[in-house]
Amino acid sequence: MQDIPELENCRLCEWQCGVNRLEGELGVCRIGRPKVASAVLHPAPPQSYTIFLSGCNFRCLGCQNWSIAHFPDTNETPRGYVEPECLGEEAYDVVNSREGKFLGADRIFFSGGSPTPSLPYVEQVVREARKIGDIKVNYDTNGFLTVDSLKRVIEFTDSITFDIKAYHDDVHRALTGAPVEPVLRNARYLAENAREKLWEFRILLIPKISVGEIKPLVDYISGIDPTLPLNFLAFRPNFVLENYKGASKELMEKAVRMAKEGGLENVDWSGRVGLPGRLSEKTSDKYENKGGEIAGGIAKEAGCVTHPRNCVACELEHECPIKNYRPAKKSI
Ligand code: SF4
Ligand code: SF4
Repeated sequence: MQDIPELENCRLCEWQCGVNRLEGELGVCRIGRPKVASAVLHPAPPQSYTIFLSGCNFRCLGCQNWSIAHFPDTNETPRGYVEPECLGEEAYDVVNSREGKFLGADRIFFSGGSPTPSLPYVEQVVREARKIGDIKVNYDTNGFLTVDSLKRVIEFTDSITFDIKAYHDDVHRALTGAPVEPVLRNARYLAENAREKLWEFRILLIPKISVGEIKPLVDYISGIDPTLPLNFLAFRPNFVLENYKGASKELMEKAVRMAKEGGLENVDWSGRVGLPGRLSEKTSDKYENKGGEIAGGIAKEAGCVTHPRNCVACELEHECPIKNYRPAKKSI
């Protein structure tokens, strides 16, 4: 097992917990040593061998990988700790296999959960793979890294897929449990300092909740550079939002239209649309914007006790009803 001394005082993401993960102390992500949930050839662009790291530093209501993201509370990490030498070699071999070439895979794609709580391990895996030969790497992020961590990611990657869940702080907190400022700061940092590494910004569109976020996000991104790539992702009912209505084609097309009117030149949408569900009547008055009121109300209904949501300062940080929510429906 390769050493990761910085886990003794973990400050990999913007929660900056400072806990000793090697001695069993837990931060917001609640994970100790990095663990691997699964790894598969994945056809979504950029085609890749995608490694899903267990655990996440967010607690998103609509998580589509909730059983991976909420490790260790879900106890689901099928592969557990894999030696970086083994995983690096495996990833290199699969990308260069007949199946990998047939799919068009040309890189290792780190996802989760979130790969950030496992960043030093990701670096080890990349180093090991590149000892064998050249290989590209994509890093999929929710944007909630420290600037130091982001600089490290820029250093070893060829592409970065970057999710922005909301523009307004209250809406972002209601959806994820975390503040938005570091995410917007990092989006700007990446666009201004390593534009060529940005595969695309990704904005999940949830009916009603995200509608008020489209214009300010478009203005924010086009204000940095109108040529930045943006993809709107259609929300599919999942996890705490398992009964919520999926995004419609009209909503996705409207968002693309708004983005183009807002000056963005490189914008598209993707995902399954029209999935059935219902909008929520529950609202919380602890949020300023409509999307925050609705998402906050749903979080409250599911047992979240701190509003606006703020997982690092919550009395239930380690007994979180959201992390322990178990949907009746399977993920789609
Ligand atoms: S939440 Fe972030 S800072 Fe806290 S222990 Fe996890 S990775 Fe480290
Ligand atoms: S209950 Fe507390 S820790 Fe859990 S999601 Fe809500 S704010 Fe975060």
